[in-house]
Amino acid sequence: MDPVHLNWMNEAMTMAEEALTAGEVPVGCVFVREGKIIAKARNRTNELRNATRHAELEAIDSIFADKTLTPEMTAYPLEDTTLYVTVEPCIMCASALRQLGIKEVFYGCANDRFGGCGSVLGVNEQLNHPTHPHYRATGGYYRDEAIMILRRFYITENTNAPVPKTKTNRVLKTEIRAESPRS
Ligand SMILES: [Zn+2]
Repeated sequence: MDPVHLNWMNEAMTMAEEALTAGEVPVGCVFVREGKIIAKARNRTNELRNATRHAELEAIDSIFADKTLTPEMTAYPLEDTTLYVTVEPCIMCASALRQLGIKEVFYGCANDRFGGCGSVLGVNEQLNHPTHPHYRATGGYYRDEAIMILRRFYITENTNAPVPKTKTNRVLKTEIRAESPRS
């Protein structure tokens, strides 16, 4: 794997670690433009009590709020921007990324329940759209690390959940199944 992509994904993992520390589902991301990180973010759904505050949308909001990064809104404001995110974008985020013309996406592990880049729905390129350009999404960058940090989160009690669940007698699984390549 290209060390350049691994380097950016490592930055995204750092954001996922921050999410875990904050009691959020540990997903982190960075957006890269012209070889520089222009935004980094993590999940804030628990903190904001808002299920749409995924890492990707948090970062996109900060890019659009910054006038040096987004002097004016164009049809495809992310066409020169690449996303690195620890988990495959969900259907909501995958669609937003397509509507905003993201250049390309790299992710860590698949999102079997909500994935919008092929796992549940191929919003990024398999589905046709009359106007919005498709984008390539490639998984497998720090996949095992992305899975393990999710497990570390789900094994502990989620005290921010509306109805806290006590999860006793849970053992952290460290075995990771191989996955068929997805791109
Ligand atoms: Zn999402």
